[in-house]
Amino acid sequence: MSMDKIALADLSLDELSALFKAWGEPQFHAVQVWRWLHLSSVTSFDEMSDLPARIRQELAENSVLNSLLPVHVQSSVDRETEKVLFRLRDGKNIEAVSMRQPRRRGGRHTVCVSTQAGCPVGCAFCATGQQGFRRNLSAGEIVEQVLFFARKSPESPVSNVVFMGMGEPLLNYEATVKAIRILNAPQGRNLGARHITVSTAGVVPGIKRLSGEGMQVGLAISLHAPNDSLRQSLVPLGRKYPLRALIAAARDYFASTGRRVSFEYTLFNGINDSVSLAAQLARLLAGMNCHVNLIPANRNADSTFRAPSRDRVAAFRDELIRRGVTTTLRRSLGGDIQAGCGQLAAYDTLLKPCTSGNR
Ligand code: SAH
Ligand code: SF4
Repeated sequence: MSMDKIALADLSLDELSALFKAWGEPQFHAVQVWRWLHLSSVTSFDEMSDLPARIRQELAENSVLNSLLPVHVQSSVDRETEKVLFRLRDGKNIEAVSMRQPRRRGGRHTVCVSTQAGCPVGCAFCATGQQGFRRNLSAGEIVEQVLFFARKSPESPVSNVVFMGMGEPLLNYEATVKAIRILNAPQGRNLGARHITVSTAGVVPGIKRLSGEGMQVGLAISLHAPNDSLRQSLVPLGRKYPLRALIAAARDYFASTGRRVSFEYTLFNGINDSVSLAAQLARLLAGMNCHVNLIPANRNADSTFRAPSRDRVAAFRDELIRRGVTTTLRRSLGGDIQAGCGQLAAYDTLLKPCTSGNR
C-alpha cells in the first residue's frame, strides 16, 4: 500500500477541513467525510453516497480510508475476545484486541490498542518488550484499530478503549493524545475520555504532561514491584524514573484530573509475590486514593516468569486488603487465544474481575 497517500484517520476534523480548503472544496464536505470515516462501515470512497463524484475521486487519488490490513484473527472459544494481527503500510505488524461482554454482564465492548510496533522499554517478562522496538504508530494507526472493531460489530458499539496493547503510549505521546482527541471528538465517535485508559510502565514526564491536557483519561501504572531495586530488574524504565517520582506523579495526576489511578501488579512466582512485598506495597501506597489490580502472570516463552499458585496469589491479595489497599484480583481467561503474547493476554485479564471472595 502506498505510503505517500494521506491516511484519513490521521487527521483531526480541523486538519481535514484545512485539506478541503486547500482543495477549494466547501467545509461541510469535510464533516461528511469525517462522519463516513468514523461512524460508518463503508470500505470505499464510492460508497460515500452524499459526496460529489469529483470529491470522491480526489480522495481516492490522495488518501486512503484504511491503512491497517487485518492479516490474522483469533477468537476465544466463547467468542467474547478477539485478537487481530494487523499489517501496517510499511509491512510491520501490530495487534489489537476486542472484548465484548454479553448483555447480561453489562454489554461493555472494550478495544485494546497498540501504540508502537514493538516496545523500547524491554521489560523482561513481556513478549512485546522482548521483540525490541520497531517504530511509533501514527494517531491514525491507533484510531483505526478502534474503527476496525467498531465496523465489524455495529450491533455492539465500542464503549471503552484501553491503551494496553503493544508499546509504551507515553513514549509515543503526541500520537497517543491525538488519537484520544480524535476518538473523543463529538462529530466522530464521541467516546468519553472517562471511557479511555492509558497504561504506562512509568514515564514520569509523560504522566505530568497528560495531567495537564484537560482530559479526564484514566491512568493505569504498571508497577509490579514496591521497591526500586526489584522494579528496576523487571521494568528497566525504573532506573530512569524511580518510585518516589512515579508515585508523586500519580498523586498529582489524581489531584489535577480527579481520576483515581490504578496500579497494575503482575504476580510472578517467587519474584514479586511474597507477603512481605505485599506489606511493602501497602506502605508505598498508604494514604493514596488508588486501586491495585493484581494479575497472575500470563504464560509466555520465558519460563522464569510464571504465575504463582492460587494460594500465594490469595495471600498477597489478603495482605493488601488487610492493610487497607483497595485491591482487585483479575483472573486469566480465554487461555486459548492468550498463547504467545504475554502482554496482550494481560489486559484481557485486567477487565474481567474474579467473582469469588474479593475476587
Ligand atoms: N507499555 C504499557 C502498556 C502496554 S503493556 C505498560 O507497560 O503499562 C500492558 C500490560 O501488560 C502492562 O501492565 C504489562 O506490565 C502487562 N504484561 C506484560 N507482559 C505480561 C505477562 N507476561 N503477564 C502479565 N502481564 C503482562
Ligand atoms: Fe513495553 Fe509495557 Fe511490554 Fe514493558 S510491559 S516492554 S513497557 S509493552
